[in-house]
Amino acid sequence: MQNPFQNAMEQLDKVIKLKNFDDEFVARLQGPDRDIRISIPVKMDDGSNKIFEGYRVEYNNALGPYKGGIRYHQDTEINEVKALAFWMTIKCAVAGIPMGGGKGGITVDPKTLSKGELERLSRGWVQKLADVLGPKKDVPAPDVNTTPEIMDWMSDEYAKITGDKTRATFTGKPLGKGGSEGRGPATGLGGFYVFDSLRAQLGLPNKCKVVVQGFGNVGLNAAQIFIQNGHSVVAISDSKGGVYNGNGLDIKKLEEHKKSTGSLSGFTDSKNLTNEELLETECDVLMPAAYENQITNQNAGKIRAKVILELANGPVTPEADEVLFKKGIPIIPDVLANSGGVTVSYFEWEQNLKGEHWSEKEVFDKLHPMMHDAAQKVFENGKKYSTDLRRGAFILALERIEAKML
Ligand code: GLU
Repeated sequence: MQNPFQNAMEQLDKVIKLKNFDDEFVARLQGPDRDIRISIPVKMDDGSNKIFEGYRVEYNNALGPYKGGIRYHQDTEINEVKALAFWMTIKCAVAGIPMGGGKGGITVDPKTLSKGELERLSRGWVQKLADVLGPKKDVPAPDVNTTPEIMDWMSDEYAKITGDKTRATFTGKPLGKGGSEGRGPATGLGGFYVFDSLRAQLGLPNKCKVVVQGFGNVGLNAAQIFIQNGHSVVAISDSKGGVYNGNGLDIKKLEEHKKSTGSLSGFTDSKNLTNEELLETECDVLMPAAYENQITNQNAGKIRAKVILELANGPVTPEADEVLFKKGIPIIPDVLANSGGVTVSYFEWEQNLKGEHWSEKEVFDKLHPMMHDAAQKVFENGKKYSTDLRRGAFILALERIEAKML
């Protein structure tokens, strides 16, 4: 796999070629404040002890406490976590929230663990890192394969170790356990608000045909929200493959089909697709909502979407960026498109610290103008610097971070 941290640094290089930033400031952003690697011993159900490798990268806290999710995946390694922590730094600044960038992870396929093992592993991650975490220091959250329940175990473990009762050290917790209304759909909804803000400016029709890669929290919520708003999802996939129906898929029924058969394939009135074919499907909006490095120089030339909305982090490589830019396919970058998740995490943190609980309507009413404002500022920068939206977003973020650091 292409090194995601190298990709992230290539993105940064392109931006500093376009606009001059202070050299020392740039040097600070070329590496994290610190990266921490831990070994987590876990008692397995069969009585044996297994050691897992875990990480926390604290990239930059100029704007506020380090903030970012924890990923459980068999391919997770330090360069991926570093890239994701860098992107969180940019993302929080683009969204205009007072948070810095961080990320965590464990190299594990959580599907291979029992629930008890998963809980012990999650609590073990906190035991090793409790010293560096805290509401004013570093605030983790969910990411790929981590759930509200896992955040609850972690938050509980942190409270046990430190006596902290605010529950503001982890976000993405369950409702009733310090979680915020609206955190579940927040990333997909934020993506929709950003898309809706830019739709006409990007020349897209009122009713778009949408393709979604990913059937997790982000992909599923986004698919449903786009449909509720009059668009149609013509194709969607999970890690094994996807399905296509030019008239639009019924996502609720498809979820039931997956639950009963274990896969998306064979769904009524639809054609099976590989993930490769899905990405190359003709559509108005392609939304990669899974992993990094999905659109590379191998397949960028074959993309037939009018616009790409990056709901995953880092799905398009820097080489593919160039190919798509030349083809005239705008990319609404991850650091803007998926920033609704961390924005509602910030709301959760604020509610925890103030001892408040906001209604879903209040949460969405606060989220919407922030996403619109960020989207428009990014678009203006794109025009001002005659560049793509990714560079537009980075310039907005770097200006905000630099103002605090110099
Ligand atoms: N993991 C999410 C992201 O990549 C959310 C992070 C958070 O809520 O802190 O943006």
